[in-house]
Amino acid sequence: MGEICRKDLLGRNLSRMKKLFPKEYNIFPQTWVMPADYSDFQTFCRLKKHKTFISKPEASCQGRGISIFKNPKSIKPGEHCVVQQYISRPFLIDDFKFDLRVYVLVTSCDPLRVYIYRDGLGRFATIPYREPTHHNLEEACLHLTNYSINKNSQDFIRDDVCGSKRRLSTVNQWFSDNDYDTGKIWATVDDVIIKTLVAAHPVLRHNYRSCFPSHTHGSACFEILGFDILLDRKLKAWLLEVNHSPSFHTDSPLDKEVKEGLLSDTFHLLDLRATDRRRCMEEDKKRVQQRLLTRHRTKEENCREEEERVRSVLRSQAYEERHMGRFRRIYPVREREDDTYCRFFEQTSSLCAETAASKARMELARLQRQEIEEKAKEEERRKTTLGGRGERREKGEEMGEVQVEEQSRVRVAARRRVPFRLTSSKKTEQTAGAGESRKTEQPATAEETRETLEYEVIDEEEERERLAGLQVRERLVRNLDLPQTLSFLLASPRSPPPLPTSTLPLPRRHSSTHHCSHITQSTPQPLLSLHSKPFVTKSGPPFRCWQSSLDPLEAFGLVVTAAPVTSRHPPTHRP
Ligand code: ADP
Repeated sequence: MGEICRKDLLGRNLSRMKKLFPKEYNIFPQTWVMPADYSDFQTFCRLKKHKTFISKPEASCQGRGISIFKNPKSIKPGEHCVVQQYISRPFLIDDFKFDLRVYVLVTSCDPLRVYIYRDGLGRFATIPYREPTHHNLEEACLHLTNYSINKNSQDFIRDDVCGSKRRLSTVNQWFSDNDYDTGKIWATVDDVIIKTLVAAHPVLRHNYRSCFPSHTHGSACFEILGFDILLDRKLKAWLLEVNHSPSFHTDSPLDKEVKEGLLSDTFHLLDLRATDRRRCMEEDKKRVQQRLLTRHRTKEENCREEEERVRSVLRSQAYEERHMGRFRRIYPVREREDDTYCRFFEQTSSLCAETAASKARMELARLQRQEIEEKAKEEERRKTTLGGRGERREKGEEMGEVQVEEQSRVRVAARRRVPFRLTSSKKTEQTAGAGESRKTEQPATAEETRETLEYEVIDEEEERERLAGLQVRERLVRNLDLPQTLSFLLASPRSPPPLPTSTLPLPRRHSSTHHCSHITQSTPQPLLSLHSKPFVTKSGPPFRCWQSSLDPLEAFGLVVTAAPVTSRHPPTHRP
């Protein structure tokens, strides 16, 4: 959310949108990001004299480093800061300037889903407001509404109804009591919030897709944002800033009520379940596999994934609608009603180098999505009309629809599964002799072979069987006294290791006149050549084993080279 949570980036994004839609994006005081916009700012000041400006650090908070000025020369040419036109006629309640802290929950950024919490904070200045003059520009408690600044003032009043910090519901009540149209006020606030998020949407969606390329179940992340809104004398809403980590500090019962409610409603609204962790791990596996097996995805695969994505979006949306608590959804407004914002989305996407081909692709994707949505809705309708299923559906909801679907998906996948580890499972059967209990596997068709390269859910039973097979094989290897044999082979003539008590006579080829010459512990490689043929003669030192204390099984991870033997020490074996 850096695109809107840093003051300079917010200024840049909203100024860009304002150039495209001057009327609609007049939601943010005119802003100059210094030093880049220095000359623009000076030109503006020459044309429009007697204006007041506010300068803020690019990425700061709590009113730190803010100054209000009238003289444009207060800004030096190379200075880094954000300068804004000062809204000198704010709406006042009881003569005090105030701003609204609105909590916004973004549950999904692809597609965008935005909720506003019905409660929030109204933060008031502690000195009655007067328009800026050269004499009062430095009075922070008159011009700034930050709690962190005003709480230190002796005029700060702690009162829920007429204090310096009030709940939004109290502020709304004040508007209603004074015959203002609260609905209209909040409609402009909603509009400001949606437009701001739309401006950041292309970057947000791009980042989301790069971080979660294969996430198809619901949204992979969420964010609570704190929007600071100022109302002017005409009750027009102006965006001051967006906080990506609004304070959850609660030093008064009022804070506690609002913020605790916000957090608990947020977790209630988000579809967080125990299965999510497992799902994420599965997705990670899938991603790694896809990266390893870089191959082009087929059209059907893309289509299937898109279909699953759309279904999941509809499911999440339905879930959120049932668990809204004190939230209300502001985007998407209602089905097909949100066309007012469509053109802003289109414009923002054009920033990412849109070509005629990409436009055509997007159009095609849109049609495809529409078709899938309709199909899903049709299916949903059919399901609801089937009487007997109603009950089961409700039960499903309790358990978590996603969980149920997940289980059935796994079951289906298990039923049509082709062996995931074809070679290893065959080996296991041969060595462990467990083949009888296993079903005869059909030869894999071309389609199935392709599917083996795809992600499959690992069947726990099969996995257990495979591990058991491996254990049996290890036992067999040990029973054949291979470790001791290897011990002997690797034994050094200088410091011969203790001979095994039950060493089998070595196979003939091993009692040849060649021995291992040196072992280097480097890249793990199997010791295959040891048994396959007498060691190849190489120039090098006579037989030495420098790692003879190693467990010979561990020697499978050693690189062995052979050399001619100059002195021979025939092994002594027990019969
Ligand atoms: P910070 O992140 O440091 O709190 P803000 O941008 O929120 O910075 O500004 C702090 C306060 O300054 C706001 O609460 C508001 O009262 C006042 N303020 C900021 N920008 C303007 C503006 N353009 N016009 C009028 N008042 C402003």
